Amino acid sequence: MSILENNNALSQLIADIAEVAGHIWLKGWGERNGGNITVRLTDCAEPDWADLPPLTEPIPIGAVLPHLKGHYFYAKGTQKRMRDLARAPMRNGAVIRITDDCAHYQIIADSPVKPTSELPSHLMVQNYLVGSGSRYTATLHTHPIELVAMSHLTRFQDSDTLTQTLWSMIPETLAFAPLGIGWVPYELPGSIELAQATLAQIHDYDVTLWEKHGVFAVGQDIMDAFDQVDVLNKAAVIYMSARAMGGEPEGLAPQDMKDIQRIFALPKTRIN
Ligand SMILES: [Zn+2]
Repeated sequence: MSILENNNALSQLIADIAEVAGHIWLKGWGERNGGNITVRLTDCAEPDWADLPPLTEPIPIGAVLPHLKGHYFYAKGTQKRMRDLARAPMRNGAVIRITDDCAHYQIIADSPVKPTSELPSHLMVQNYLVGSGSRYTATLHTHPIELVAMSHLTRFQDSDTLTQTLWSMIPETLAFAPLGIGWVPYELPGSIELAQATLAQIHDYDVTLWEKHGVFAVGQDIMDAFDQVDVLNKAAVIYMSARAMGGEPEGLAPQDMKDIQRIFALPKTRIN
């Protein structure tokens, strides 16, 4: 029996995760087992989840995350493909519960699919989100082609230049990614240095670009996290297309962007 049975809220949430995994594959952002999704499920947990027999011994997280005690997450499995997750989310990921010592997790459903090695960095960000009272539940790592291409160009290797360039491509980029985009210089994938540098950026940004690698995004739910990456990557595609036509794109005028921020009352910091 699946943990999804008789839980419509959870079933919808897992269906959204599967849909996003499919989008990521079709966009070419998720080659092989590339990318990761972690979503906090606590809001749709049933009271009896606490009594579900764990499918594994406690597995160390590698960090003590005091705000995550008793929280539940869906986590993509190690070596699992986004395109497979899109078809069968519960065979390519698992539901985990953080143990009372806040330093371990146990898999509780549907089967013992071990989470990705990127789980500790995702949980560190989740710990920050819960601790700061945020309603954000989703963390996403993926490899959007054009944003990664931009990260190779030294003139774009800071948050302000990246943000202003992307915002100036079409008004919707500013409207739907109003916090802009953070920047993390190259670090070894899966390293604690990369996790800590990402966490520092997530204080201010919903989407952070990792040099020569990919993005890490947070959102109220997985659709929100995906949408923000999609909006920012669309701007990168427009920039690249204009360059391919032979010139530097003019970009929206600074005053036009200020007007959009003012008239639409766009937030400059994360609201919740
Ligand atoms: Zn990656």
